[in-house]
Formats: sequence, structure tokens, C-alpha cells
Amino acid sequence: MGELEQAWDELVATARRTVTDGLVVGTSGNVSVRVGDGDDALVLVTPSGVPYDRLTPGDLLAVDLTGRTRHGTLVPTSELPLHLALYRDTGARAVVHTHAVHATAVSTLVPELPAIHYMTMALGGPVRVAPYATYGTESLAANMLAAIEGRTGCLLQNHGTVAYGDSLDAAYDRTAQLEWMCRVWLVARSVPGLSPSLLSAAQLDEVAERLSGYGQRRDG
Ligand code: 13P
Ligand code: ZN
Repeated sequence: MGELEQAWDELVATARRTVTDGLVVGTSGNVSVRVGDGDDALVLVTPSGVPYDRLTPGDLLAVDLTGRTRHGTLVPTSELPLHLALYRDTGARAVVHTHAVHATAVSTLVPELPAIHYMTMALGGPVRVAPYATYGTESLAANMLAAIEGRTGCLLQNHGTVAYGDSLDAAYDRTAQLEWMCRVWLVARSVPGLSPSLLSAAQLDEVAERLSGYGQRRDG
């Protein structure tokens, strides 16, 4: 299997996971992955409005960094401007956008998810909410880019989540962590008469250092 075909397989699997894990309903959300570098870079994207369980290897859809279709015949996701903005302006290799329930609820309540849990540092710090703009517009992409600065994820007001990473797995994992943290905050703040404790900047700084060494270390 070629590099593009393998990347398409992984992209379709990730898009399907967003549905089976309950992060989106129907054809909501979209996923992309970058293959290659420089002027030859291609971005594989989910098509607009097509159920992910219907996608086959023959539906492979790729655009260049200007948004011109290079492979495939389906219409790319309406959020192409948002995905391309991340590939142009950050080191993103994969992007996941969802309408996860708790994250979307939080996006309607606050301009930033309060630091309720240390895993916010897996996204680079307290996660901001990009001001509302119509889906699929350059304005939404611009608001998202400003909100995600210094982070690997953000919320879109009255809309959902965006997260990126070095791989589809990393972008997906950050999305799931973000949705989980939003859920924790909503549950904690809903207890009458009490409000959740939050982590200080100093506590978060300490976590950032530790997280960089988290997991299985490979020696030699
Ligand atoms: P697409 O089906 O065009 O990807 O749109 C879904 C979506 O989430 C728009 O914000
Ligand atoms: Zn959306």
C-alpha cells in the first residue's frame, strides 16, 4: 500500500471513531492528515456530508495547501479553511474537529475552560474558546488560529472542538482529553453551593515539565 492509501485508511478509521466514541453525530465534524512536506505536501480530508462508514479506499480525497483538489472527486469538508490554516501556521500533521457534547456546552459558557485538571497541559495550557463565526468560513478559521496559539487545541463557541498533533492518534487523543475535561468541569460546577478548585499557573508549569517525560521511556 502506498503512503497516501495508508494515510487515507488511518483517516477514515479516525473519522469513524469520532462517531462510535460519541464525539459527533452523523456527518458532523471532519478529519485531515498531512502527507509530505514543502510545496509537494498534500492534505487528505474527509468529504463534506458523507457518512464515514460509507467511505471506501476509492474515495481518497486530497488537496494541496492552497485547497486545490489533487486526488478524488468528492467535495472536501466545508471546514477546509480551518484545516489549511493549521497546516500553514503550525506544525500540525493531523487535525480533528468534533461537535463533542460537553465541549460544545462549555463553549457557550466561558471564554476559556478553567484549569480543572492537569491534563490541560497535554494541550499546552488552559484551553481558549474561539469567538463564534459561521461554520466553514475564513472568519472561523481566523478566530480559531488566534485562540489556539500556544496550544494544540481549542473550543469553537457554540460549535465544538479543534485539536491537532503529530499524528491522527495524537490529534484524536487530545480531542478526547478535552471533551473529558469539559465534562469534569461541568459536573463539578453543577454541585449546588460549591465551586470547583482550580490549578494555579505554578501548578500547571510543574505539570508541563513532568508531562514531557510521561509514558514509557525508551533507553538507547
Ligand atoms: P462537513 O461535513 O462539511 O465536514 O461539515 C461538518 C462540520 O462539522 C462543519 O463544521
Ligand atoms: Zn463543525
